[in-house]
Amino acid sequence: MPLDKVPPPSGPFHQRFQTEIVWRNVAFYLGLHLLALYAVLLVLTFQVKWQTCVLSYVLVIGTSQGILSGVHRYYSHKSYQARWPLQLFFVFWFTLAFQNSVWTWVRDHRQHHKYSDTDADPHNAARGFFFAHMGWLMMRKHPKVLEKGDEIDLTDIENDPLVMFQKRYYMPFYLVCSLLVAILLPVYGWEETLANAFFVPFILRTVIILHLTWFVNSAAHYFGTKPYDRTLWPSENAAVAAVTFGEGWHNYHHSFPGDYRGADFGYRDNTTTYFIDFLSRIGLAYDLKTVSDAAVKARALRTGDGSFPRHRLDEQSNPTEEREQTNKKSTNYFFENFLKLR
Ligand SMILES: [Zn+2]
Ligand SMILES: [Zn+2]
Repeated sequence: MPLDKVPPPSGPFHQRFQTEIVWRNVAFYLGLHLLALYAVLLVLTFQVKWQTCVLSYVLVIGTSQGILSGVHRYYSHKSYQARWPLQLFFVFWFTLAFQNSVWTWVRDHRQHHKYSDTDADPHNAARGFFFAHMGWLMMRKHPKVLEKGDEIDLTDIENDPLVMFQKRYYMPFYLVCSLLVAILLPVYGWEETLANAFFVPFILRTVIILHLTWFVNSAAHYFGTKPYDRTLWPSENAAVAAVTFGEGWHNYHHSFPGDYRGADFGYRDNTTTYFIDFLSRIGLAYDLKTVSDAAVKARALRTGDGSFPRHRLDEQSNPTEEREQTNKKSTNYFFENFLKLR
């Protein structure tokens, strides 16, 4: 139904708003998933060289950090500062992730935080799990998304020449990077077939990273506890955190979006935070912002759903010391996790 013929609001959301499906995008995502299924078959029938599988996994890790440490925690939230070589690193890996330009991702994400789960949220979870997961990419935008999207402050990234360069040349940049890294490298590096290089490191790897990102918008907005703010849809979801390098602690993240850790206390399944710590240690990241334990506790007491650990509310507990011990135990956590197949 064309947007100008949408009936006036009344009754539940799904009854009062029917959006126009963009069939071209439906066909694209359907085709992409069929190709990915064939790629899975190729892998399961041992037709793909092990080097190509390793490369695909490395590409999943690299692109995930382009999204998570880079475009999410750095560009969208500016929860720390990054020096220019690191910015280049992030833009390169993010471009490979096939998630549009940095500018578009940041605009959508800032809008998602500002209008979470309302009509103006691009992937409003109130419109259903599938819509929040990937359906939003196959439909015309809600008029409120368009209206409020223009009001999102993007001054900082619009003053960033690298971001604007990537926005302008996104598609050629994406095609060249993908061709070099996902296709030519395996074909010329270890004589992989062109078909396998196309199906596995190019197609399958892209689909995997898309779903990992989408689960944060769907599952982490549907399932889990809300220790910091029970009024939000975003929840603490350990399963999502485990497969997204730490992005599933979503009730915390929406309660404190400026915290570079993206999660409370300790670093459980939060490889991204370890990576940013590592970048800070080698001088590429600095000015890492965190929220104090006192502020976290106060928020949990004020708006939490009661699942916040009770011992943390005890005056005697020393979260800073406890956190340091947790982190010390996990000195090699970052490397272990980056090497471990999850
Ligand atoms: Zn969210
Ligand atoms: Zn965020």
